[in-house]
Amino acid sequence: MANIYNFSAGPAVLPKEVLQQAAAEMLDWHGSGMSVMEMSHRGPEFISIYKAAERDLRELLAVPDNYKILFMQGGGLSQNAVLPMNLCGGADSTIDFIQTGSWSSKSIKEAARYARVNVAASSQATGFDRVPVQEEWKLTPGASYLHICTNETIDGVEFNFVPTVQGDTDIVADMSSHILSRPVEVSKYGVIFGGAQKNIGPAGVTVVIVRDDLIGKALPFCPSAFDFKNVAENESMYNTPPTYGIYIAGLVFQWLKKQGGVAAMEKRNIEKAELLYQALDADDFYQNRVAKEYRSRMNIPFYLRDESKNEAFLAGAKARGLLQLKGHKSVGGMRASIYNAMPIEGVQALVDYLNEFAGR
Ligand code: PMP
Repeated sequence: MANIYNFSAGPAVLPKEVLQQAAAEMLDWHGSGMSVMEMSHRGPEFISIYKAAERDLRELLAVPDNYKILFMQGGGLSQNAVLPMNLCGGADSTIDFIQTGSWSSKSIKEAARYARVNVAASSQATGFDRVPVQEEWKLTPGASYLHICTNETIDGVEFNFVPTVQGDTDIVADMSSHILSRPVEVSKYGVIFGGAQKNIGPAGVTVVIVRDDLIGKALPFCPSAFDFKNVAENESMYNTPPTYGIYIAGLVFQWLKKQGGVAAMEKRNIEKAELLYQALDADDFYQNRVAKEYRSRMNIPFYLRDESKNEAFLAGAKARGLLQLKGHKSVGGMRASIYNAMPIEGVQALVDYLNEFAGR
């Protein structure tokens, strides 16, 4: 079969080497006679898998010692409730939000069930085409925390700066769709979280990186399996963790280290994104509506000027092995997600098709 390139926003493409290794180890992991799926999470085999995954992620993101890495469940969406329950003093507390697209909007809605929310800035009026400049933000003094989504998966908007905050307000960042795509200064954040199914591994694992002093403050009604203290004290084994997902994530971390780590990934991701945006910007056949300085390197939404050609575009793409390019239903159009595991050859194949379809 010709090469297939999968542009899904998530669950998304994984490195071929990782899938091959997982296949080779499926029935018998390292001579244990068991599949990873069949192992006790408390046995020495899985504990070694878990510890290696934790250690490698810590190394890749240079996570300081005063942060815990938690492997949780419930996806990025559940964190919109888990975070207020863990970090707020209750219904009278205020959480600041920067609204930059669909995912931060969902976070705002959910958090409002637990605390006051203040939308300190929003780009909704301009169709989520940018990150509002920090000078315009109206932050709340003494807010429990500031929540941002550093890469909006649907709208294709990525932060190109780390916000500055006053006093002891912490930044909480939803990095679901660009974690590990670039270096990050972890110490600038109180919490970083992300669902795994884009740049980390299979759906079902939620990575939470949390500074030690933010652990142990959960509200009484926080479910015990979602209390950061319980999860941290039990090394993510307060309840049975998503063992197979953690195993695959661990293989992805090893693969990333072999690729040269996140700095090397960033270089490749810049190259891939530039290649694709150049093709989209070449004339007015296609259109990406995001202000250039905030364009995502991971999720690239675009529209055909003539939307009556959408179906033909998708059918032609599929025939060439370019899969899952249809945009999110809430915004329409197309979207190419080009995560770490998407090789530049895949982006080049898409660019060739974009040029061909545009008759260039
Ligand atoms: N945040 C972002 C930025 C996302 O892209 C997604 C999923 N696409 C979510 C949160 C929600 O994640 P989940 O479906 O894992 O709950």
